[in-house]
Amino acid sequence: MALTGLPALTSSASAATLKDGTWCNPAQGYFPSGGYYGAARGAYAHAGQDVTNTTGTAVYAAAAGTVVRRGTAVLTGRTGNGLVISHGGGRYTYYGHLSVFRVALDAQVSAGQRIADMGATGNVTGPHLHFETHSGGLGTTTNPVTYLAARGVELGGGWPSIDPGASGATVKAIQYLITQRGTALVADGDYGSVSVAAVEKFQSAKGLVADGQVGPKTWPVLVYSLQEGSSGSHVRGLQEMLNKHSAGLVVDGDFGSVTTSAVRTYQSVNRLTVDGQAGPKTWEALVG
Ligand SMILES: [Zn+2]
Repeated sequence: MALTGLPALTSSASAATLKDGTWCNPAQGYFPSGGYYGAARGAYAHAGQDVTNTTGTAVYAAAAGTVVRRGTAVLTGRTGNGLVISHGGGRYTYYGHLSVFRVALDAQVSAGQRIADMGATGNVTGPHLHFETHSGGLGTTTNPVTYLAARGVELGGGWPSIDPGASGATVKAIQYLITQRGTALVADGDYGSVSVAAVEKFQSAKGLVADGQVGPKTWPVLVYSLQEGSSGSHVRGLQEMLNKHSAGLVVDGDFGSVTTSAVRTYQSVNRLTVDGQAGPKTWEALVG
């Protein structure tokens, strides 16, 4: 979180030229529908939108520009490591609570260039990117969700897209879910040809484009709504995703009280509805 009430920008950094249509999502992650822009924070209002994911998640420049501030508490009311990028024409973006900077002060950056890693520095309850858009000079914030939406960009990116050749915990979850859907796969975390063929078969059966890419259309029909008492391969997939977020569960496929507790903890930290059940919103947050 961060607060409004900014001094005028005193940097004389040159304004970069911004081409229309070159905005992009600054980080893959989750935020509640409606977002938190303008929400009360004591005597102030939340000046941006929090995008939640794990520490180390890549943070990208939302548009081309110049890094005009880099450091700790670089704007009044903001805490932790932050970057400000000037996009010209009085437009700025702010990126807060970063764990690692990947650009220098005064650097020229392109849209989509990795500029930092997500973190939990400053006044936070968990790792997230605090992202702000300023449209009429630094200090004139706008709602970043609608600002990006007007430029064809979905902040946070929603469900991730997992392509053939990918590897990792999210691929394991896909393999467990496909197994539950009826095609047994080895959950080795490598999205190779056998797994891709199984996903394509699943997509065809669901009337989707059979391209093997597990993206925003495939995820919602692939995941299951799970709760205490559920058991099976899909629960293993859920436990695998919770462990990606440091739950430390035994991946046994039984949704018992320990898994319920881990879901509730995850939901609480990520400001989801805390019900201990793994529905679509919780899955979207976990796999993002
Ligand atoms: Zn925030």
